Formats: sequence, structure tokens, C-alpha cells
Amino acid sequence: MRLKGVVFDMDGTVVDVPYDWGKIKAELETQGKPILVYLESLEEPERSEKWRVLEKYEHEATGKATLKPGMREFLDSLSSRGVKKALVTNNSWKNTNYLLRKFKLEFDCVISREKGLWKPSGAPILVALEELGLRREECCVVGDSHFDIRAAQEAGISFIFILSEDRERFDAMNAELFSSVGELQKRVEKLLPND
Ligand SMILES: [Mg+2]
Repeated sequence: MRLKGVVFDMDGTVVDVPYDWGKIKAELETQGKPILVYLESLEEPERSEKWRVLEKYEHEATGKATLKPGMREFLDSLSSRGVKKALVTNNSWKNTNYLLRKFKLEFDCVISREKGLWKPSGAPILVALEELGLRREECCVVGDSHFDIRAAQEAGISFIFILSEDRERFDAMNAELFSSVGELQKRVEKLLPND
């Protein structure tokens, strides 16, 4: 495999953000559905009220975000090797743009939730590949959640790299786990063509 593109998740992957998803889902009463799918299924005025609750939590968490240690070096090394980078997030463009500016990050393609395509669907990843002009065989996905794994699998990407120290949570899943960006970087560099 000659790796030509990396599709990144944002929250928990590129940046560390203090989300308590259990608490948020309980407050929204999502009934086990993915949050965005659940919110879009509601009628007004409940729909707008609950969107505001989610946006409030997202705004708070985004304000406290920190760049994941080692991430800038990793992103820079990909750019210097000519590897394209996409950011695919279920977060809003407003929060995404805020974080990109705050940490001065650049991606070749950014897909936020306004596109109407959300993980765990593979659709937003496929749109990113199209924008990058790359085939699924030439790309890997880097994320931190089950949603990232499901979306990558649905998009037909077989190299799935998860940043997490929680081995149990990803036990039976078909993904490679890394506890630091440095470890991930070494793995990804093995997939790059020798120049
Ligand atoms: Mg994430």
C-alpha cells in the first residue's frame, strides 16, 4: 500500500475536548440513537430546544480544547511527505473553524456536519475522498471512537487507526489502537512510499 491520504476525526483525535457524552445523551434523551440522527427526527419546538442544548455543550467543550500532544508534528510530517489530509467531523463548521484558526491547522478538505452526512455513516468520508481525488485503497482513517470505525468500514477503508488507551472498549473491533500520536506516526510512516 502507498498511503496518499489520511482522513482525521476532529474531537478526541486532533484535539482533546472534555465532552461527557453520557451526560449529554441523558439530558437530550436520545434513546440510544446517534445524537444528530435523533435531533433531526424531532418535531418543533423540541427539535430547536434540544439543538440548543447540544450547541451549548459543544461551545463549552470547544472553548476548552487543547491540541493533542504530537499532533502538530504528525500533521506537518504528512504535509512534508506530500500526504493529503482531510478532516471529517460531526461537529459544526463554527466550532471546527474556531479550532482550525486557534491552533493554526490546515487540511486539504474539511467536512463538517452542515453537509448533512454524519458518521457512523461512511458517506462523509467518501465525500472527503472525492474532494481529495483519492481512492479508498490509498487512504487511512484516524479517529477515537466506534463511530469512526463504523464510518471507515462503511466507506471501505481497511486501515483504521484509533487513538485510545482504552483497549477493552475497542476489543473486538477491527482497528489498530495507539496510545500516543508518536506511535501512530511510526505506523503511518511505514505505509508511506520510500523517497
Ligand atoms: Mg472523536
